Amino acid sequence: MPEALPKILVVEDNPLNLLVVRGALKRLPCVLLTAADGHQALALVQRERPSLILMDIQIPGIDGLTLTRRLKADAATRHIPIVAVTAHAMAGDEERMLAAGCDGFIAKPIDTQKLPDLVRSFLERPAAGAPTP
Ligand code: MN
Repeated sequence: MPEALPKILVVEDNPLNLLVVRGALKRLPCVLLTAADGHQALALVQRERPSLILMDIQIPGIDGLTLTRRLKADAATRHIPIVAVTAHAMAGDEERMLAAGCDGFIAKPIDTQKLPDLVRSFLERPAAGAPTP
């Protein structure tokens, strides 16, 4: 039943990185939604209510951290876990991402061996504050 599968939104503007994520998650029973910019991502979140968002921080339109703040400020979307995906690995970045409301982060280049377990761990967590249908 495809409707029973969790939806994961991958926000990524680089087609090559998107292929890497797709490849890494292909054995995971889930539906991958993709957005290449912040506006498209926002519209998809509002329409599809994914179970998890993998958020590239550097994207056109609304940047990843601004979009994260927006989604975490909205009662309808704040329960959706957001994992920041970033090429930055500078001191202070983790704090910056957590302060924006990200629930976790993963550095680029993405470790394709670890990504499925990371995603699975977020999908298995009960979504705190999820609105009851
Ligand atoms: Mn990017």
